[in-house]
Amino acid sequence: MDKDKASEKTEDKKTIWQKRDSRDIEAFCSDYRTYMSAHKTERENVKGMEEELKKAGAMTLEEARAKGGALKAGDLIYTDMMKKSLMIVRIGRKPLTDGARMLGAHIDSPRLDLKQHPLYEDTGMALFDTHYYGGIKKYQWVTLPMALHGVIVKKDGTEITVNVGEDPSDPVFGVSDLLIHLASKQMAKKGSEVVEGENLNVLVGSRPLDTDEDTKESVKENILAILKKKYDIEEDDFVSAEIEVVPAGAARDYGIDRSMIMCYGQDDKVCAYPSFRAVMDVKDPEYTAICLLTDKEEIGSVGATGMHSRFFENTLAEVMDLLGVYSELALRRTLTKIRVLSSDVSAGFDPTYPDVMDRNNCAYLGKGPVFNKYTGARGKSGSNDANAEYIAFLRNLMDKHDITYQTSELGKVDAGGGGTIAYILANLGMQVIDFGVAVLNMHAPWEITSKADIYETYLAYRAFIV
Ligand code: MN
Ligand code: MN
Repeated sequence: MDKDKASEKTEDKKTIWQKRDSRDIEAFCSDYRTYMSAHKTERENVKGMEEELKKAGAMTLEEARAKGGALKAGDLIYTDMMKKSLMIVRIGRKPLTDGARMLGAHIDSPRLDLKQHPLYEDTGMALFDTHYYGGIKKYQWVTLPMALHGVIVKKDGTEITVNVGEDPSDPVFGVSDLLIHLASKQMAKKGSEVVEGENLNVLVGSRPLDTDEDTKESVKENILAILKKKYDIEEDDFVSAEIEVVPAGAARDYGIDRSMIMCYGQDDKVCAYPSFRAVMDVKDPEYTAICLLTDKEEIGSVGATGMHSRFFENTLAEVMDLLGVYSELALRRTLTKIRVLSSDVSAGFDPTYPDVMDRNNCAYLGKGPVFNKYTGARGKSGSNDANAEYIAFLRNLMDKHDITYQTSELGKVDAGGGGTIAYILANLGMQVIDFGVAVLNMHAPWEITSKADIYETYLAYRAFIV
């Protein structure tokens, strides 16, 4: 096709808004908003999805084992790793040894984590000391209403769930910033130092304990007394707690035309949620469909719940065993026949900051899910550079299902860089490419996406595993 015809073809193409019934877009995105408002942390995501799985009649791996296997096409099985990552398998009509289709996303997002000794008092104020998690512009995380989400595990194993700041009647918390009147020194600092990591302290109290006793830190004592009453915990119990400080508040429609959504944690729940919905909604896939939702992507996919762990391989081996087809060699061979969409977000073009993008090779809001053949930095360092043959297969599949998609790389050459779980999956010999929703304000407390993209991404994920 010559150049003119190519551009003609592009112009002919209807937008997603023209092509899809806007009621379908709104219905899906309304579910998404509700979901995002209630599930902000990796633990909350695993818990919420497991509840949905139970409702849908899915079996845990242990339940399937207790039944002695006998899985049939359409069966749903799931298992989690330490309540922070989750693998869901929908058995296909074809034998698993013929391969599988996998959607892999992550459910951790940048935030502030409480330190193990977080609580202190200074000049009559009680504060929580934090350590930020993931890559953030620290100056974006001050003067915002924040909520506390997480768990405190007591020595006897009792697990206490913490969720304060979301209900309109709850108090909120936050990190203070210097008033502009006294900030001349601060304003001259470079962006990475304007707000320093050690200064991300969350203000939680200023009322002294009501007592006649002479207490040195009566504001802190008062906070501890409230926590004792509410959760039955001692100060030391923070040592075995995981409490995340996240932006408080619900997901909202964004824009006068309500075409977008603003909420916390869309990297990468804007891909995790459609991936989950796809594997729930496609009830009888040809190939076994896997939805893998991992933790720790934002800090390098490390640890037992990150993609570098053996959780995925071990679970796949268990499923093969249930199907009576497990051997070490069969597992290795099956891995090389699995096709994967690493469903992670991409950077959306921002007209206010055009300089970091190559206009011909970047993602635009509203133009559909984005294929990133490679991510990485500098000379593609650290990237999974997807195979041309695999991309051709996917182009054909997307066209067959009338999916609007785009291709992108993460900004201009040498502008910066980033990564996903794609390269780790590719290490196992699977065909993998990054494919997800374009985001504005990525890693900011409030991220923005297009409703058209969210719905089209869901349709694309469905088409992939159908
Ligand atoms: Mn991501
Ligand atoms: Mn990220």
